[in-house]
Amino acid sequence: VAVKSSPPPTAVVDILIDDIPTPSTGVGVGNNNSGTLMPDKDDDDLPALLDHTPSYSGNSAVNGNLPPNDRDNAESEPIFRVRSRTAAASTPNYESLDYEVCENKLFQDEQKKRLTERFSLRKDIIRWIIFIQIGIITALIACSIDIIIEELSELKYMFLMTSVEKNVPQTDFTGGDLVVPFLYWILLSVVPVAFGAAMVTYIEPITAGSGIPQVKSYLNGVKIPRIVRIKTLAVKAIGVITSVVGGLAGGKEGPMIHAGAVVAAGISQGKSTTFVKDFRVFKAFRDDHEKRDFVLGGGAAGVSAAFGAPIGGMLFSLEEAASFWNQNLIWRTLVASIISVFTLNLVLSTYHGLNDFTFTGLFNLGKFDQPLKFDYFELPIFMLLGITGGLLGAAWNSLNTKINGFRKRYIPWKIGKVCEAVVVAMFGVTLACTMIYFINDCRPLGNDPTIHPVQLFCEDNEYNAVAALWFQTPEATVRSLFHDPPGSHKILTLTMFTIVYYVLSCATFGLNVSLGVFIPTALVGAAWGRLFAMVTYYLFPETEFLHPGKYALIGAAANLGGVLRMTISLSVILMETTGVETSFFFPLIIALISAKWVGDYFNEGIYDTQIEVNHVPILPWEPLPQYKGLKAREILSSPVVCIKLRDSAHYIYNVLKKCDHNGFPVVDDVQGVHRSQGRVCGIVLRSQLIVILLKSLYVENCRFWLPDTSIQTFRDVYPRYPSIESVRKLDDKIRYTVDLAMFMNPSPVRVNAHDSVPRIFQVFRALGLRHMLVINNENRIAGIITRRDFIYK
Ligand code: ATP
Repeated sequence: VAVKSSPPPTAVVDILIDDIPTPSTGVGVGNNNSGTLMPDKDDDDLPALLDHTPSYSGNSAVNGNLPPNDRDNAESEPIFRVRSRTAAASTPNYESLDYEVCENKLFQDEQKKRLTERFSLRKDIIRWIIFIQIGIITALIACSIDIIIEELSELKYMFLMTSVEKNVPQTDFTGGDLVVPFLYWILLSVVPVAFGAAMVTYIEPITAGSGIPQVKSYLNGVKIPRIVRIKTLAVKAIGVITSVVGGLAGGKEGPMIHAGAVVAAGISQGKSTTFVKDFRVFKAFRDDHEKRDFVLGGGAAGVSAAFGAPIGGMLFSLEEAASFWNQNLIWRTLVASIISVFTLNLVLSTYHGLNDFTFTGLFNLGKFDQPLKFDYFELPIFMLLGITGGLLGAAWNSLNTKINGFRKRYIPWKIGKVCEAVVVAMFGVTLACTMIYFINDCRPLGNDPTIHPVQLFCEDNEYNAVAALWFQTPEATVRSLFHDPPGSHKILTLTMFTIVYYVLSCATFGLNVSLGVFIPTALVGAAWGRLFAMVTYYLFPETEFLHPGKYALIGAAANLGGVLRMTISLSVILMETTGVETSFFFPLIIALISAKWVGDYFNEGIYDTQIEVNHVPILPWEPLPQYKGLKAREILSSPVVCIKLRDSAHYIYNVLKKCDHNGFPVVDDVQGVHRSQGRVCGIVLRSQLIVILLKSLYVENCRFWLPDTSIQTFRDVYPRYPSIESVRKLDDKIRYTVDLAMFMNPSPVRVNAHDSVPRIFQVFRALGLRHMLVINNENRIAGIITRRDFIYK
C-alpha cells in the first residue's frame, strides 16, 4: 500500500483503501469521494499534482515556515483527513449551487461599463417587475388548479351521492345496495390516482410529495436536479389535481409552493431550456445567486396563494425555506405575496360570482362568525393540547419515516409504486365506507354544514354526519370542523375519523404522488381538537365555554406544530385564513410552541426528516454538535487539486476528465513545489473551465476571441453547463495555454487552518459559499472545505 511512511502518531487519517495507488505509479491518495484521481502517464504535471500521500504532513503548508519538501521534519499534528469509505459511499453526490457571485475580471468590466445610476435603477425596476410577474403567474396557476379540482370533485361527489340515493332506499337501515356506490367510489378514486402516480413515477419523479423539502434544499444551496423545470411544474400540477380529486389524504398547498418556485426560476431567467427558447431578456439575472432570490419570492407567492395569507407566506419562506435574507429581499418577497393573493382573490371571486372580492385563498378556512375569545384559565388547556399535538406529531413523523423506509426497500419498481398509490386510495375508500356503514350518526337538517347533504340510512329531514365528513374535499372538511355548530357529530364519529385519517395521512405522505401534508395534518388536528371539546363537555356539562370550533382550531395548530415544527408562520397563516382577532394569536402560539418543543424532543419536523433520510447535504443553522471545538485543519481536504494561473489546456482537460470536483484553486509561484502547494490567487469552477475549453479561449488565439468575450459568454450556457464529455480531445491543442486571470474569481474566501470550525461554518453559510480555501501564513494552499466537509466528516 502506498502509504510511504507511517503517519505521525496523532494524525487522523481515514483512507479510502481503494484510492491508495501502488508505489509504482508514484501516486498518493486522492481524497475525492466521487472518483479516484489517477495520473496520466503521458502528462508530466499530473503525477506531480497528485503526488501526495498521508505520509506528507502538510504542516509545512499550514504553518508556512517549513520548506515544502521537508516532509520528514514535519510536526506530528494532523493536517488532513481523507473521507472514510462508509461516509463517501452512503451519501448521494448532490452538487452545490454557486450562491457566491464570481466577481472576476469579466464581471468587473461589465460593472464598470454599467456604472451609471440609470443602469442600477433599471436593474432594480426590472427586478421588481419580475417579482410582480411571479406573484401574478403563481396565482393564476393556483387558480387553475383550484378551479379544476373543485369542479371535478363536485362532479365526483355529486355522482356518488346520486348513486347512493338511487341504490340505497332511504329507510333501508340494513344497508341496501351500498356495494354499487362503493364500487363507483373506488373507480373514481383509483383512476385519477393511478394516472397521477404514473405521471409522477414515469415522467418526473422529483414531483413526488409536497416539494417543500426540495425547495428548501435548493434555497440552502443544494442543486436538486430538475427541480425548477417547466416539465416539473406541468407534472406537479396534473399530479396534485389527480391526487386530490382521487381523494387521497393530502392537500394542494405544499405543491403550490413548489409551483411558485418553478414559476420564479422560469420567469427570472427569460428563457426556457425545456423549449430551447431564449427571450433575450433578464440576462443580468442568469446566475444562481439572483435566481435563488426569485425562487424564494416564488415560494412565498405560492404559500400566499395557497392560504390567502401574504404575511404568512413571507414568514413561511423566512422560517422554513430561506437560508439567506436581506432587507430588500424581504420587501420584494412581501410584494410578490401580496400581488399573488390579490390576483387569486380577483380571479376566484369573479369565478364564484362574488362582487366583493372575498374569496381569499385556496385553503379557505372560513371566517368565524363570532370573535374567538378565551379565558386565562384556558391557557394551560391550550398548552396541554400543544403537548398532545407534539406527541402525536412526533409519532406521525416517526411512523411515516418507517413506512417510507419500508417503501424504499421493498417497493423499488416503478409499477409497484403506482400500484401502491392505487392500493392506498382503495384502502381509504374502504375505510370511509366502513365508517359510513357501521356508524349511525344522523343529524337534523338545518344545521347541515355540507352543501349537498346525504340522507344515507337516515330518516327524512336528517342527514348522515359521517358521510358529510367524507363526501367532500379534505379542506372543506376542515372548514366544517371549525365552523359546524356544537352537536354536529357524535363522539364516536370523530374518534373514528381521527384515527382513520391519522393512519391514512401517514400512509399517504411518501407515495409517489404530488401531495402536500398541510391539509391532512390540519384535518386530524381539527378533528381531535373538536373531539376534546365534545368529550370534556360530555363529562363536565358545565364547561360550556369549550367552543368546539375554537378547540378544533387549536387542535389543528397543535397538530401542525407537532408535524411541521413551524411556529411563527403557521400561527400567522392560521390567523389570516380564519380571520381571528390578533388577541387569539397568543393561544395559537402557545399551542404551536408547546407542540414544537415536545416534538423536537423526539425527532425533527417532517420536512427536515425527509431531507435527512434522502441524505441531502443541507447546512443546518448551527454547526453540528460534533464539529464544535474542531479546527479547520481537522475537516479540510488535502492535497488539493489546483490549476496554475497559466496552465496548459491539456492539463486542465485531463483534470476535468479525471476528477469530479467542481472548484479548483488557482495558484501561481509553483517553482520547485507542486501545484497543490502553490500560492493562492483565485478559484475557478469546473463549469467555467469547460466553457473555456469548448470555446477555445486560449492565449495563443486570443486575438480572435478576446474582443467578443464577456461575462455573457458564460451566462449564455447557464444553467445547463455542458459536461467535459462534450469537449473534443485536445490532441491538436496539446501545447495551448489557458490564462485564468480574467476568468477566475480572484477573491475566494480564505481561512486559516487554525480557525475554529463553528466560525468558518458561519462564514460559509452566511455567504452561501460552495468552496472555502484553507491557506497558510504564506497564502499557500493548505486544504479545501466544501459543504460536505461540514456534514459528513
Ligand atoms: P459540490 O459537490 O459541493 O458542488 P465539489 O464537487 O467541488 O462541490 P464536493 O463534491 O463537495 O466538492 O467535494 C467532495 C470532497 O472533495 C470534499 O471533502 C472536498 O473537500 C473535496 N474537494 C473538493 N474540491 C477539491 C479539490 N479541488 N481538490 C481536492 N479535494 C477537493
